[in-house]
Amino acid sequence: MPESQIERAESRSGHLMRLPRVVYVGGDTIDRLGELLVRENFEGPVCIASGPNVRRMMGDRLAAGLKTFEMSWVDVFAPSEEAARSVEKRVKETNAKTVVAFGGGKTIDVAKVASMNVNIPMVSVPTSASHDGISSPFASLRDSGRPYSRVTLPPAMIAVDLGIIAEAPSRLMKGGFGDMIAKLTAVKDWELGRDERGEYFGDYSANLAKMSAQHVMERAQQIGDRIPDGIRALVEALISSGVAAGIAGSSRPCSGSEHLISHALELIAPGKGLHGEKTGLATVIMAELHGLDWIRVKHSLKMAGCPTNFQEIGITEEDVIKAIVMAPSLRPERYTILHKLQMEEAEARNLVRHTEVVGPMASE
Ligand SMILES: [Zn+2]
Repeated sequence: MPESQIERAESRSGHLMRLPRVVYVGGDTIDRLGELLVRENFEGPVCIASGPNVRRMMGDRLAAGLKTFEMSWVDVFAPSEEAARSVEKRVKETNAKTVVAFGGGKTIDVAKVASMNVNIPMVSVPTSASHDGISSPFASLRDSGRPYSRVTLPPAMIAVDLGIIAEAPSRLMKGGFGDMIAKLTAVKDWELGRDERGEYFGDYSANLAKMSAQHVMERAQQIGDRIPDGIRALVEALISSGVAAGIAGSSRPCSGSEHLISHALELIAPGKGLHGEKTGLATVIMAELHGLDWIRVKHSLKMAGCPTNFQEIGITEEDVIKAIVMAPSLRPERYTILHKLQMEEAEARNLVRHTEVVGPMASE
């Protein structure tokens, strides 16, 4: 067999995993970032992508932590291709050899796209633990209003400063909790794809995502109380779940029908609620459809201090019903329980009322 054919055959039967090379979780990470980069053989100059607020509040500290590295900054205002282009431009102008993404999900996603396009490594330095994008090989962008996901490379290094994560607004961390429990129903949807559509299913990555979700559920109270052990558990679970996506080679273990509902809500009720708040609540509803213990899921949201009712984040019952009906059309190829059931409005209404995630809040 000619070599080119062998290569093709191998790529057809092989499975590609893209993983971060280094993960560092500590209490003084940004003060030591320069040292860590040297130790792990990252080269300068570094191009630091960050939101303007993050730069104003913590820029000097990060700059001091980078020590002898030559550095330049670029502001990221929106999760768009255009923002990625401006990071790429800065990298070229400064001949940067490493991109450091210092900020929330938006900054990290833009930096993932930019660093891949200019073919230099990216270091993810999250300032909040609000979702699993801190380590996954996917970026959520939004150019003309409609959010979409892009395959990128995972960050080469993830450097988490637990002190900074602990000081971030508590709502962000609760969002991270909601994004974590979503893995319970995401994995169930993936199983359905395997059983009913013959889709590739990775046992290991599915178990890793599920275990990470269970790990934070068991520590919901500690996370709600912002106890250091709880914060660390949440950060590690978010990293593991992004890694699970890297192992799976798709976002399947991390994102199922509950994420489709959240994406539909972004179109129906734009700007209402954080990603993790919506996915957490949608997980309660999808847990009931999948025959999981939705009451336990909802109780864990309550213990972690997350919203347990869409009304708390300004989303109405009608919006949620519309989102459930619309969700499967957003990704027709991504088979989930909502694709299987193709719910009508009346069924969706029964479901959201039964799980008490809408309507009067006295229902708790
Ligand atoms: Zn998510």
